[in-house]
Amino acid sequence: MREIITLACKVCKRRNYTTTKNKRTTPDKLELKKYCPFDRRHTLHKEVK
Ligand SMILES: [Zn+2]
Repeated sequence: MREIITLACKVCKRRNYTTTKNKRTTPDKLELKKYCPFDRRHTLHKEVK
């Protein structure tokens, strides 16, 4: 059961990425460092609903 989630940049709040995760093995909110094209640097991206 992998669910599609959206990752939003913590700096500009834009939703830049979608990915999947297994909610059973990863119950916490995902936080990933990813490149944000709007900030033009790597920022922390957090899972949103
Ligand atoms: Zn950003």
